[in-house]
Order: sequence, then structure tokens, then C-alpha cells
Amino acid sequence: MASGHQIPMVDMGKLLSQHGATVTIVTTPLNALRLDPMVTAHSADSGLEIRLLPIRFPCAEAGLPEGCENLEVLPSRNLSRNFFDATRMLQQPLEKILRDFQPPPTCIISDKHLPWTVQIASKLRIPRILFDGMSCFSFVCSRNIMMSKVYEQQSDLETFVVPGLPDQIELTRAQLPSPFNHGSVNLVDLREEIVEAEKASYGWLINSFEDLEKAYVQEYRKTKGDKVWCVGPVSLCNEGDSEKAHRGNKSSINEGQCLKWLGSWPPSSVIYTCLGSLSCLTAPQLIELGSGLEATGRPFIWVIGKSGITSTDDDFQKWVIKLEGRVQHRGLLIWGWAPQMLILSHPSVGGFLTHCGWNSTLEGICAGVPMVAWPLFSEQFYNERFIVKVLGIGASVGACAAIRWGEEGKAGVLVKREDVRKSVEEVMSGGRVSEEMRKKAMRLAEMAKRAIEGGSSYLEIKAFVEDVKQISNKLRQEVKDL
Ligand code: UDP
Repeated sequence: MASGHQIPMVDMGKLLSQHGATVTIVTTPLNALRLDPMVTAHSADSGLEIRLLPIRFPCAEAGLPEGCENLEVLPSRNLSRNFFDATRMLQQPLEKILRDFQPPPTCIISDKHLPWTVQIASKLRIPRILFDGMSCFSFVCSRNIMMSKVYEQQSDLETFVVPGLPDQIELTRAQLPSPFNHGSVNLVDLREEIVEAEKASYGWLINSFEDLEKAYVQEYRKTKGDKVWCVGPVSLCNEGDSEKAHRGNKSSINEGQCLKWLGSWPPSSVIYTCLGSLSCLTAPQLIELGSGLEATGRPFIWVIGKSGITSTDDDFQKWVIKLEGRVQHRGLLIWGWAPQMLILSHPSVGGFLTHCGWNSTLEGICAGVPMVAWPLFSEQFYNERFIVKVLGIGASVGACAAIRWGEEGKAGVLVKREDVRKSVEEVMSGGRVSEEMRKKAMRLAEMAKRAIEGGSSYLEIKAFVEDVKQISNKLRQEVKDL
């Protein structure tokens, strides 16, 4: 239960409903409130069958403050353990609800962080389909690093080449996701459960498209078999401004005001900066980021998320007020949630400074804008290499280490203002290299659109719906025959 997983799940639900499926999205009450505008707008406009089904989240039972139904609002990352324990307590109520479903469900599409859904699927004799929110490239990197154990002989900052890839990808141990990089919060048992549940799953839905990462999709299929469907980029199911504006949470800025500001700048001139829904940079690091943006001399939007543990410090607030005075009309600051998709699809946006979350990466690709890559944690360093080295549509700020979950406050300053300024210039300068990136990004955007509008992803969703219908009928028949 985090935006990077919930938002694409709802988008996927919309796409499935367009293919004739009746979709129920099970979530908790506060998440349902956040997702309701996405679902309501879709079903009202299209008449398609998609609905939210909230079930109570047992915060108190798991030792969480009331209302902590999403990773974004956890007061400390050290409560992650409690958070996952609470999600585990949803197993029984969900099983009960699904048993009473009429007509009975055909399949369950589950986020990977809910491994216990495998037991429900097995009891109800329906297929469980896994969604892990990552690309095939990330999966293959992780798998090859794990199998070769190449990182074990390296010191934290020593570079190694990821073995067995069609591209030359270099990383350091410090940039790898936990478990390769000593995660600080102990979630080893959850990880093991996730691996076991994967093995027992029927298939995989991937938010990606064939032409984006062909060699890696093939490699993924070699490992997982043929029940892998690449159905993305799922965000492209949001077409109008209203759908684009209401994704995942209520915007902290009036959409009209935002569009008016964007409309006051020439095409491809604005750099949009957002480091995702979970980033927690220290105040000194945020100051380096803001100073770097100021030093570019270009118009910018900077989304300062609210989940930052130190971003609300008094000193930082005072610094930001002075920054706003200096950049005046040229900088638009958004405190909280930005209508990211709406902003990215505006013609004035010419670059995207991103933390390389997979959804943001895909949204940048769909918008056809080159990216400035500032990975923070998780599989984001893989995505950074994918953007910069494989696709050639971005520049890196040069982050050298992942920020550890639960230890964000200790990270200090990893990226300097000059690094930010230089990498933004690489992408926005209009010189030969930057124009080459822009052209490639625009080509990819067209390919993404084609994939969803009748191309590979469209056909794969169709094939997925048919496959699941068949297997579900077969399983039902087996039960009757018993
Ligand atoms: N997002 C948004 N507004 C914000 C922050 C995030 O709309 O202010 C959306 C973004 O468009 C993406 C998702 O939240 O769909 C974040 O997912 P991603 O995988 O990029 O990163 P995460 O937040 O999971 O690290």
C-alpha cells in the first residue's frame, strides 16, 4: 500500500475493465478515499464495471498510529515491520469477503508485498497473478547479481559489471537494493515469503511494453515461462486532463493555476522536479537540490513532498521562502502532492528530474521528455542505468549510494548543487547531445502509445483476460467433478 503500487494497479484495473472484465479493487478506507476520484471518473465516463472495496486496516492491533494505511504516512520507516504485520492481518477478512462474492472471482491480481494472497487463491481454487511494479530490466539485473554474487567480492564503492546482460551496466554495491546492500529494517522473513509466493503464482503482469525492453522481456519469459503479460504503460489509460490530474491523491495545487503557470512558458523550457511519493531527503540535501535548480536559470517546478522527515524543518522553510523571493515567477513550488501526469504532458515541460521510480520513469517516457536521473533507493539505480545507458534519454546527477530505508536522516548530502545544475544543463541545453536525447524520448513516447492503442500491450491484455477465463473455468470444472 504505497502510491507506486496502488496507482498502476488502479490503472491496470481500468484497462482490464475496457476488455470486459468486472474489476474490484480491494483496499483500506483511507486509500479508497485517495483512489476514489480515479475510479469514479473512469466508471462514470465509460460505464465500465470497476469499483473499490474497502476493508478495515488493523492499525492499533499492529502497533501503528491510527490512519497509517499507506507507507507514505508512516511517522518512521522503523515502523515498516508493524505495517507489514498489519497487512498480514487482512488475510482472514479478505478470504471471507471473497468466499461470499457473487459471482465468484475469476482470479486475484496481487501486489507482491501481500504474499499471503497465494493461500487465499489456493483455497478458493482461483489463479493468483503477481504484480511487482518493476521492469523486466530490473528483474534481470537483480537475478544476475544474485546468482553470480558478483557484489560479494566488492567494497561498497567499487564498480562491477552486471554479468550476462546484453548491455554493459556498471553498478556498485552501495547502489544496490537491500538485500544486497544490508537493509536496515529487518524484513528477511517477508522477503522469503514473497519468493515462495512467487513460485506458487500462476502468472505475472508487468507494467512495461515489448519494444521498450525486448531483450529483457525475453529473458524474463525464459525464467518465468509463458504466463508473463507486458501490459503497459498502464498510465496511458488516463486520457483527459481530469483523469490525469486525479491520480493517487488530492493535488496540493489548483490544477487550473498549475496549467496557467505552465502555459506562460515556451515549449520544452520547464524542468519538472519530483522525487516520488516516499523520498525523505535531509534539509541540507534539499537545499542543494533547490540551489541547483536556481543555478540553472531556467523555469522549474519543484515538488517538495510531505513525507520528508526533515523537509518541514523551520530553517528549511525559511530558506525556501528566500528562494521563492529570488526566483519569483520562474520557480513553482508544490508542497505535497503534484498532478504529475498532467504536468508531464504539458508541452512547456522539457525535462523531468526524477528519482527513477518505475512509474515515474514510464510516465517520463510516455511524455517524451528526457530525464535527469537521481535514484534514491530500492531498484531505482537499475532504472537510472536503463534511462541513461540503455535508452539514452537522460543524464545522471551522479548519486553514488542508495539511501537506506529507516536511516534517511543519516544520509547527509550525497548530491551537490553543481551536480544538479550540470545534469539539468546536459538535458535542457538544446545542444547536439540534448537534442538527440529529446528525439529518442519522443520516439519512445510514440512507441508506448502504439503499444497501448492496439499494439503489443493491447493484445497482451486481451490474451491475459482470455487465458484467465479459461484456466478459471477449468479449475471450476475440476471442483465440480470432485
Ligand atoms: N506521484 C504523483 N504526484 C506526486 C508524487 C508522485 O502523481 O507528487 C505519482 C507518480 O505519477 C507515480 C507515483 O506517484 O505514478 C510514484 O511512483 P514511482 O514508482 O515513480 O515512485 P515511488 O513513489 O513508488 O517511489
